Amino acid sequence: MEEDDGWGNGTPLPDLQRTESWGTTGSKNDETEWPSDPEEPSPMQPDWSAEPEEEILKGIKVGNFECVKTDYLKQQVHRISKDFAGTMEIPLGVSMNILRGFKWNKNRAGIDIFSEEHPKTYTTMTTKETKESKVRCMFYASIDLEAKGKKPKKSKKHSALENKVGKMIEDGKTQQVIIRALIRKKYKPADVMKAFNAIQAKIAEKILKSENLTECEKGRGLVSRENATRLRCGHWGCKDCWKDALTHSLATGREIVNYRCQKIVCKNKKCSQHKSDTGCFCEEAVPREVFDEFLGEKGIDQYDRWMAWQFALDKKKEYSHCPAPNCEYWLKQLPMSNSSRAECVCGKVFCFYCHRKCHSPVPCRQYEDFLERGGEKNVLSLWLKSRTFPCPKCKAPIEKNRACLHMSCICGHHFCWACKKNWNGIGHGYYNCPSYKKDKESKKYEVEAQKSTREYRKFKFYDAQMDIIREDIKLIQKKKDKFEKEMENSCRDLNTYSFIFEALDTLLQAKEQMIYLVITAFYFSGRKTQWTCLKCTFLNAGTNKKCTMCGRGTKPVHEDMKGAGGKDLFEQQQKLMVQVTNNLMKLFSKDQKLDEILQNRKNVVTVRNACDKFVRKVVEDVDDGVYTNFILDAPDESIEGWYCVLCKKMNDFGKPVCSSQGCDACQVHGEAACLRCNPH
Ligand SMILES: [Zn+2]
Ligand SMILES: [Zn+2]
Ligand SMILES: [Zn+2]
Ligand SMILES: [Zn+2]
Ligand SMILES: [Zn+2]
Ligand SMILES: [Zn+2]
Ligand SMILES: [Zn+2]
Ligand SMILES: [Zn+2]
Repeated sequence: MEEDDGWGNGTPLPDLQRTESWGTTGSKNDETEWPSDPEEPSPMQPDWSAEPEEEILKGIKVGNFECVKTDYLKQQVHRISKDFAGTMEIPLGVSMNILRGFKWNKNRAGIDIFSEEHPKTYTTMTTKETKESKVRCMFYASIDLEAKGKKPKKSKKHSALENKVGKMIEDGKTQQVIIRALIRKKYKPADVMKAFNAIQAKIAEKILKSENLTECEKGRGLVSRENATRLRCGHWGCKDCWKDALTHSLATGREIVNYRCQKIVCKNKKCSQHKSDTGCFCEEAVPREVFDEFLGEKGIDQYDRWMAWQFALDKKKEYSHCPAPNCEYWLKQLPMSNSSRAECVCGKVFCFYCHRKCHSPVPCRQYEDFLERGGEKNVLSLWLKSRTFPCPKCKAPIEKNRACLHMSCICGHHFCWACKKNWNGIGHGYYNCPSYKKDKESKKYEVEAQKSTREYRKFKFYDAQMDIIREDIKLIQKKKDKFEKEMENSCRDLNTYSFIFEALDTLLQAKEQMIYLVITAFYFSGRKTQWTCLKCTFLNAGTNKKCTMCGRGTKPVHEDMKGAGGKDLFEQQQKLMVQVTNNLMKLFSKDQKLDEILQNRKNVVTVRNACDKFVRKVVEDVDDGVYTNFILDAPDESIEGWYCVLCKKMNDFGKPVCSSQGCDACQVHGEAACLRCNPH
């Protein structure tokens, strides 16, 4: 061998064609192709052209997603790694580990691998050749038999640490796990190593007395080269120890793909650097070929599965696992799509990015923010902020609830609400402060308090709308349950009555969607958008008063209604949704029996179809990203009221009905003198 094959001469370079057994397709693994004699030279470069064309696995398309199984992912990992291995002239498993470090971006990996500042690549690119006939097994390396003769003085602390290590070894924990766990518990690495060595020495002594010793144990870690496998970092492990260690690593689940070289490389007794999760170990990741050598077909299949999962998790903008229990599908985002509403073949609908119940069009961050705002603690803190002032002495919040300026805190401090100064001394009266001037501190506080008040009222406004929708959902669900019971207890023909359940399902779906539209409205931008010139159809910026194209058209009064989106249009859409669902809901409003509704079948079907069509349109708009650019991180401060869809007036958030003369539209339903809100 003139060139280093990256594995040392003791181990033949695994034939890359052997990995054809990946996935469900491809040729069966043929043992006779595997060189049985370790001395037999293996091909340096596999003949890529000789690879048979493998069939590319496909998933099942659902909406903007392709539902794929683990085999599909395995094939993806295999193909991209093989491709990169061919370009770089490296073994497949090494290629896999490098690509992982670059989030599977092989173009970036190909360039950045040669730069100084490449990310953790899990492997060294250059390997050093050694010629000894005996090599040291790294799994045995930490057993320091010399240590037992010296008998150093031991403190109580040390024997406690030794006991801990002994217990962990008994529990079957690996060397890496033990050392890392203890270093994390703030033990000094040098102390941990000492304790570990002492325990290992005791164990080794016991083992040496037994009869069935492996070559490694007999030679106290020194083994012949042929019976060892080397990693690219130059560290050896004897075959017995490798098999043992890798078999154990299978039990760690997905962690197996992070299994690294077990050589302790840190010689510094007072090491303080190695507190990261790599500990004092060599960072070389053990490549697939080594697992393949020691794990057998079942084991390597498990390894491949975990690597496939790692691949999908590393590409979380592209893949998301279906959260339904026992569902084995991964959803793959189709190219050019970034939809968050994911639907699996199993029927589960969920948020692609956060795995919660689907909440589109609200982005995950805003959804979380809204839930947090609704949390008891937050509502309370906003409420406190808007009505209270921290006592200047003890900082406890004090509520001002009378017109009187005199404030007294439970800490015994008395101060003036206006100037925040000590009450006594400067001649304060209950309604008169002699030194009142708005200093910086109280001005800042007032601005804060006003902002909190506005935010609180705004949140409450939207929250109240959601409560009404949630009540509706409960009502519809109850009705559905009742009808289902009625069906069960009679011998009615299901086909005749199915339109009723379809209508109720449409209602439920619409109401669910409305909840998320309300949250969307909370974050919707109030910014004026473009308007379309009615004379020449040119799309003008919101700031233009006259059409810049033809000069004839002028900006409409309700420009947003004619424009390409905006809060008004959105709220209009929202209220229309309320109206179409109300029309349908009214048909079920009385306590009708199934047969009474059957009399009204034609009407129910028509109204249901209209509602369904509208909901579909809204969902489509959402999927097309119509609202995306209008959703802000926090509620728009410039919006201080709600928009009446009947008369186009902006109303104060505190008002439940439109304050415009003679309008009286309800804020939730957009109906004048709304019967649902005032059932008289
Ligand atoms: Zn060994
Ligand atoms: Zn260290
Ligand atoms: Zn190493
Ligand atoms: Zn599923
Ligand atoms: Zn989400
Ligand atoms: Zn005062
Ligand atoms: Zn109005
Ligand atoms: Zn109403």
